[in-house]
Amino acid sequence: MKKLVIASNNPGKLREFQHMLAPLGIEVLTQAELGISECDEPHVTFIENALAKARHVSLASGLPALADDSGICVAALGGAPGVYSARFAGVNPKSDQANNDKLLRDMQGVADRRAHYYCVLVLVRSADDPQPIIAEGEWHGEIALKEQGEGGFGYDPLFWLPELNKMSAQLTTEEKHAFSHRGKAMKVLLQRLLAE
Ligand code: IMP
Repeated sequence: MKKLVIASNNPGKLREFQHMLAPLGIEVLTQAELGISECDEPHVTFIENALAKARHVSLASGLPALADDSGICVAALGGAPGVYSARFAGVNPKSDQANNDKLLRDMQGVADRRAHYYCVLVLVRSADDPQPIIAEGEWHGEIALKEQGEGGFGYDPLFWLPELNKMSAQLTTEEKHAFSHRGKAMKVLLQRLLAE
């Protein structure tokens, strides 16, 4: 595989993918630079949304495409925001800050702070690829009482990691990849890809 399009417009995800894929010698393109429109994410499961995004971008580009569908699942909120993580506080516009503010409000006075990030990666070699490469990862932590840290994106300033004694937004890029849902899923995906 010489070229791969990342099926995402999320700047945080794009930064992480470009970093993780850099050593592979594959030319990594983004859907925005190819002028490909956003894909709807109408499904209730991460995997269905990831497949839809990967197929959409592969069809439009004629190239292999890698999609990520991910989110944060909070135990005390019954797994919410889950697949709706990017649009938890609404879509006009989608805002990480508004999402974090809403999460803190919803978690006010809640003792059980357990949460996990989930990521599924789907790589299709073509839009009609019958055997996409699919890889998952989870990262368990807690929802903090206030934001801390400048790194990462999304809910990272609120994602507390007791064993590291740090917020996800306080990790270096390398540390985040070593522990994160996306880093774990990417390791599995790369093993599968390199075995082809
Ligand atoms: P998607 O683009 O529909 O997959 O939405 C993913 C959303 O989940 C992001 O917009 C973030 O709100 C959240 N998310 C996923 N992964 C991370 C992460 O690594 N750090 C922080 N937030 C994340």
